[in-house]
Amino acid sequence: MDRSADIAIVGAGIVGLAHAYMALRKGYKVVLFEREQFAIGASVRNFGLVWPIGQEPGVGLDRALRARQHWEEISKEAGFWMKPNGSLHLAYHEDEWNVLNEFIDLYKGTAYKCSLITADEIIKRSPAVRKLNLKGGLWSETEGTVYAREAIRRIPLWLQEKYGLIIKFGHVVTEIDMPLIKTARESWRVDKVYICSGADFETLYPEVYDQHPVSKCKLHMMKAVTEKPVHIGPTLCAGLTLRHYAAFGKCPSLKLLDERYDKQSEDFKKHGVHVLLAQNEAGELIIGDSHHYSRTVEPFDPEFINEIILNYLHEFVDLGNYKITERWHGIYSKLQGNISLVLEPQPHVTIVNGLGGAGMSLSFGLAEEVMGKL
Ligand SMILES: Cc1cc2nc3c(=O)[nH]c(=O)nc-3n(C[C@H](O)[C@H](O)[C@H](O)COP(=O)(O)OP(=O)(O)OC[C@H]3O[C@@H](n4cnc5c(N)ncnc54)[C@H](O)[C@@H]3O)c2cc1C
Repeated sequence: MDRSADIAIVGAGIVGLAHAYMALRKGYKVVLFEREQFAIGASVRNFGLVWPIGQEPGVGLDRALRARQHWEEISKEAGFWMKPNGSLHLAYHEDEWNVLNEFIDLYKGTAYKCSLITADEIIKRSPAVRKLNLKGGLWSETEGTVYAREAIRRIPLWLQEKYGLIIKFGHVVTEIDMPLIKTARESWRVDKVYICSGADFETLYPEVYDQHPVSKCKLHMMKAVTEKPVHIGPTLCAGLTLRHYAAFGKCPSLKLLDERYDKQSEDFKKHGVHVLLAQNEAGELIIGDSHHYSRTVEPFDPEFINEIILNYLHEFVDLGNYKITERWHGIYSKLQGNISLVLEPQPHVTIVNGLGGAGMSLSFGLAEEVMGKL
C-alpha cells in the first residue's frame, strides 16, 4: 500500500476536519489520523452552536460568519441537520437590559445582525420563555445549530466519499520526524502535518505547549427530554451569559450586573456557570454549562454543579415536566488572551489549537486562513 500523502491531519475533531476539508478542496491528497474509532472529544460533546454573537467584531466575528456559511453548505451537501435558528439573550433585570442596550449602541455598523425585541415578541418566537419580569431581549439572526455528534461523525465519511480523504481511525500519532509521521501501527511519508489534537498537549510537542498560556477547561453538560413537546425556537440564554463573552465586557453596565450576580451566589463565578439552552432536530434539549480550568482534569462530575445550572435555567424557561437523559463533561483547550493558537514547532508542521469554547463557531473560518497559506 502507498503510505504517502501531501498532507496529514492529526485529530478528527472539528479543527482537524475543517483543515482536511480546506486542503481537499485545493486538490491535495490528505490522510486523517484519529486515535479513537471515531471522534469523542470536545467536538461531539458540545451544544452544536455556531455562535458568531460570541465573537468580538473584527477577526473573530468575521471568522465566525465565514464559518457559518461553510456549515450551511456542508450540512446540505453532506446531509446532516443544521438549523439557522438565531439566538436570544434574555433580560430580566434592569442591568441586563442596560447591557443589551449598550451593546446595540456600541456595535452599530459592525457585522452583528441583531436588534432588541420586546417581551411579547420573545414569547412569539419562543413560548417556553418565562414572561414574568422579562424586560426584552437581544435577537441575533446569525447563530445556527447542528447536532454535534451527528455532524462530526458524518463529515469525515462525506469527505472520504466526495474528495477521497484517507481515514485512519484507531491510529494514535506517536512521532513526527519529517517527512515521516508515525502512528502506533503505521508510518507515512507526507509533505506537511497539521496537528489538531485538542486538549491532548501531552503526546506531540508537549514542550511547545509549556511555552504558551494554555490550559484545559472542563464543562458539565446535560441532555433532557420534555413530557410535552417544547419548541424553543432560537437558542436561549440570559444574564449570566453576558459576563461570559468578551464583546459584552465593553458595556459599562456589565459591572453592576456582575456585582449583583456575585451577591446572588458566589457559585456562578466559582464554577464558571452560564446557561445556554439548545435543541436538536429530535426536540431534545442540550443544557450547560460550567467552566473549570486546570492542566489535568478531575474525572468526577459533582451533581451540585448540574443543580446550579438547572436552577438558573428554570429562571428563564418553563419546560414543564422533563427528565435528564444524559450527563457528561467535555474538555477543551483554552488559550488565555487569544482565540486560537497556530504554531510551527518545526518546518512543515503546524499546530492548530486553543479555540476554547468557540471551535464549532470558528474552525472552518480559521482553517480557510491557515490553508490559504499553502
Ligand atoms: C461542553 C462543551 C460545549 C461547547 N459548546 C460549543 C458550542 O456550542 N459552539 C462552539 O463553537 N464551540 C463549543 N465548544 C468548543 C468546541 O467544542 C471546541 O473548541 C472544539 O470542539 C475543539 O475541537 P478540536 O478539534 O480542537 O478538539 P477535539 O474535538 O477534542 O478533537 C481532537 C481530536 O484529536 C484526537 N487526537 C489527539 N491527539 C491525537 C494523536 N496523537 N493521534 C491521533 N489523534 C489524536 C483526539 O482523539 C480528538 O478526537 C464547546 C466545548 C465543550 C467541551
